[in-house]
Amino acid sequence: MDKVIITSYSIHDIRFPTSLQKDGSDAMNKSPDYSGAFIILRTNVPNLKAYGMTFTSGSGNEVVCVAMETLAKRIVGRSLAALTENMSMTYRTLVSGQIRWIGPEKGALHMATGAVVNSIWDLWGRYEGKPVWRLVCEMSPEELVNLIDFRYIVDVLTPEEALQMLREGQQGKEQRMQDALNNKAVPAYTTSAGWLGYSDEKVKTLLKETVKEGFKYFKMKVGSNIDDDRRKLAIARSVIGYNGVKLMVDANQVWDVEEAIEYMKQLAEYKPWFIEEPTSPDDILGHARIRRELEPYGVGVATGEQCQNRVIWKQLFQAGAIDIAQIDACRVGGVNEVLCILLMAKKFGVPVIPHSGGVGLPEYTQHISTIDYVLISQKLSLLEYVDHLHEYFRYPCRVVNGYFTTPLEPGYSIEIYDSTIDEFEFPHGAFWVSPIGKEVTEIMLQGL
Ligand SMILES: [Mg+2]
Repeated sequence: MDKVIITSYSIHDIRFPTSLQKDGSDAMNKSPDYSGAFIILRTNVPNLKAYGMTFTSGSGNEVVCVAMETLAKRIVGRSLAALTENMSMTYRTLVSGQIRWIGPEKGALHMATGAVVNSIWDLWGRYEGKPVWRLVCEMSPEELVNLIDFRYIVDVLTPEEALQMLREGQQGKEQRMQDALNNKAVPAYTTSAGWLGYSDEKVKTLLKETVKEGFKYFKMKVGSNIDDDRRKLAIARSVIGYNGVKLMVDANQVWDVEEAIEYMKQLAEYKPWFIEEPTSPDDILGHARIRRELEPYGVGVATGEQCQNRVIWKQLFQAGAIDIAQIDACRVGGVNEVLCILLMAKKFGVPVIPHSGGVGLPEYTQHISTIDYVLISQKLSLLEYVDHLHEYFRYPCRVVNGYFTTPLEPGYSIEIYDSTIDEFEFPHGAFWVSPIGKEVTEIMLQGL
């Protein structure tokens, strides 16, 4: 590994015009263009390169790309061995220095950190010839603890405690690895039918299709209008029923705390399992109150996709603010920080259902859910699946009979084709210079 040197990198602002079909639309994000800020690492070894990405919803992707440029310079010239022998220090180095002032460990800068850290993991997996989930699951508890930067969380999780948890997790690990290899580790839920901008007819048709495909868990977007939401949830329940299935709803942060409570009381008759992102992702005590007040109505609370770092996660757990932890693979600082959040979730007994509603996210999170099942929670790990844009990835995730197919190819499954870059790199890719691309750009620049 000390012979593998990162010699250069390239950064790509890739945007897909999903706003044309309202894919991904919700009460807050009315017409996102699903986008990824990608980094490609190149090495001195022929054909050994690696990919990292963070997800955005279009405008602002360029900001993350600039931050990635700054961070990527720090790893050029370094060997894979030097970067991975003490990954917690590699992580610490990336979040330190003058640039820390524009974070720290939050926002666009931290998303850039996530992409760069994940690109190192992709390289590590490719070098070892293993998918990232397997690379992690085959590490010893001592090696795993060394991946984590415990700064700011030792009041709830010490390295010694993490080590103990990971040692206990070794029991039955081989069987769970086998389950993963048999594609029985990660059941999927779908949001594909639930986007807010879809017509009633489209919702109905898509739900029927997903029921046929074997899904048992469904999520709908809510929060723009109570009458519309009641109508759509009634449609959803008429298609999926109530037996052996679960329905979730997602408000994408549109409400104040009291508004969330009152609104959700009116949707309780449709028996949603949880309300996702009822309010600001930074409002820890607000989530705690919503959870307390909705508990008698049988509605849980979930959040996480815009939870910016392990400190916010720590407080959500400490405050008893959530029923479900929806960790994002690249909003926080990559695999390392995700592992520490998984461990905190385990300690507080909060199930993890990673956030995957975006391009490339299910490709990443299938690894995270597999790690959670094999190594940490040891429970079947439900995961969001959105059926968009997988065709642009070399190793797309797949769902068969309601389960994710465990990835077997080396790395972190986030490689895009060169042709994807040629077509969708913003603003000069083939799509974006076309007449329709220019129209979409105009709307994007107006902030609509
Ligand atoms: Mg969501």
